[in-house]
Order: sequence, then C-alpha cells, then structure tokens
Amino acid sequence: MTTPATQSPTSPTARLMDGSALARRMVEEAAERAALLTRRTGRTPCLATVLVGDDPASVTYVRMKRSRCEQAGIRSRHVALPAATTTAELVDTLTALSDDPEVHGILLQHPVGPHIDERAAFEAIAPAKDVDGVTYHSFATMSFGADGFASCTPAGILRLLDHYGVELAGKHAVVVGRSAILGKPVGMLLLGRDATVTYCHSRTTDLAALTRQADVLVAAVGRPRFLTGDHIKPGAVVIDAGYNPGNVGDVDFDSARTRASLITPVPGGVGPMTIATLLTQTVDAAERLS
Ligand code: NAP
Repeated sequence: MTTPATQSPTSPTARLMDGSALARRMVEEAAERAALLTRRTGRTPCLATVLVGDDPASVTYVRMKRSRCEQAGIRSRHVALPAATTTAELVDTLTALSDDPEVHGILLQHPVGPHIDERAAFEAIAPAKDVDGVTYHSFATMSFGADGFASCTPAGILRLLDHYGVELAGKHAVVVGRSAILGKPVGMLLLGRDATVTYCHSRTTDLAALTRQADVLVAAVGRPRFLTGDHIKPGAVVIDAGYNPGNVGDVDFDSARTRASLITPVPGGVGPMTIATLLTQTVDAAERLS
C-alpha cells in the first residue's frame, strides 16, 4: 500500500478518497465516448432501467441513475412495473429488452420484492447487456479476469483504490460482508489483483482480530457505523461501501479516520463511483454491440 507522502501511518487524520470528483471525471469520459459513438454510428448508447413497485429508495436510485445518464448523453428507457409483477412477467420483460437492438445495457433495480425469484430475473439479462454485473456469467468473467462486466460497486471501489495509488499485491484485504452484489465480487477483484483476501460475515468469530490485520478494509455490512477505530490497523486503507438511512456508512468515520491512512467518506466516496461505473459499462456495451 502506498502511504501518502505527507502522512505517517499513525497520522491522526486520514486523507479522504474523493469518489465524487473521480466519478465526475468518469461521467465526463463516458459522455465523450457516447458522443463519439453517436457521431460515428448514429446510435446513442441506451440504458434500460427496470423498477418493480414503488419503494421510495429504489425510485430515488433509479431517478439518480437516469439523471446521470442524461448528463452523459446516454439515453435511458424506463420500464415501471407494478409491485404485483410475477417472476414470469419480469423475466419476459427482461428477455424482451435483451433482444431489443435499441437497448445496450439493462439495469434491474433491486431488491425486487420477496415474491419474485431475483436470480431468475437477473439470469434473463443477456450477458452482453449486463452492465450492472449481476448475472452468473458476469461474476464468472469478472472473477477469471476475462472480458465482461463487473459488479458496479466493486469495480468502482477498485478504480478508487487505483486512483489513490493503493498497492494491492501481497497486501491483506479484509472484506466484511459477502453479498452477491458487493462483498463477494469485491473480494474476487482484490484477489485478482494479488491481495490476500479474507471474507468476514455474520458467522465470523472475533471479527476485530481479523479486521485489525487488514491493510485494506472493505466494509459492506449494511449496519450503520458498525466498524470503529478499534477494528482498524493504524495506516490501513478503509473503504466504506455502506449506505444507511441518514447518509451514514458502515464505518464510524470519526474514530476510523484517526487510525486509517486513507478513507472514503459517506456520502461522496463509494456511492458516486457505482453510478459512474454503470455509465462507463453502458458505453462499453454500446461500443461492443455497435
Ligand atoms: P447485505 O446483502 O445485507 O449483506 C450484508 C453482509 O454483511 C452479509 O454478508 C452479512 O453476513 C454481513 N453481516 C451482517 N451482520 C454482520 C456482523 N454482525 N458481522 C459481520 N458481518 C455481518 O448487504 P449489501 O447489499 O452487501 O450492502 C451492504 C452495504 O452496502 C449496505 O449499507 C448497502 O446500503 C451498501 N451498498 C452501497 C452501494 C453503493 O453504491 N454505495 C451499493 C450496494 C450496497 P451473512 O452473509 O452471514 O448474512
């Protein structure tokens, strides 16, 4: 890991990793590439967003994603389905979008509701359009380092680590959380970069003993301020992927920043990188499909 030149590993205040600024640059780059593709082929990248029901948080997330698309000159086509939509109906919708040549990327906003088989729905997304990186195919290609789409939040985290010059090879990365969209894939990406990866989860015993060994600590727990300064090795790089009500992360920022060398704030750290990665991958998909 590269420790910022101006700080010692025991520096009382960690340097912030500014995800908002880096995400802005990524959106600008995506916009330039989208404009170029439109000029060259007459076809504008298009992301289809699919929302089941009207959960307020999901509605907000989809609105944010569509508004960023608009900023970047990416078309978005929104499909709003009633909460009572069945798995079969959702699969039909996603299959139709997968077959539609006007659509380059597909985002199914999740969670989709307990009565729907979410996995069956994800698997109806064509791998070539899986710009959110949720299918088995994408997980496999990402894990093998082959061409394909990565899970957006994990890929955004790696981009942020690279931007801040964090060396990963040979470092101990500890990921707290093992969800299919976040914990598991971020661990696979870190492994692919030659980090030694430990996954922690709700059945892990003596969590703090493991997190205190981390050169890079990724919090993906879904519990507000769950990891505190006591969980952190002095000088560690701390990535807080958590996003809880009230703009609160999974890391207790105030105590963590007295131990870490680099840390992501919430908001303004990992969150904007997720959307920027989604847009980048939508343009990637459009370029490949054009
Ligand atoms: P999730 O599916 O609920 O997974 C949470 C993980 O944390 C599970 O693997 C769980 O273990 C583990 N966990 C729960 N309690 C624990 C404990 N006491 N000790 C250790 N591990 C524990 O959540 P998620 O979808 O991965 O999301 C995690 C966080 O990231 C949430 O705050 C979410 O809002 C945020 N998020 C942010 C973005 C973004 O763009 N910024 C995107 C996605 C998610 P088990 O597997 O054993 O149950």
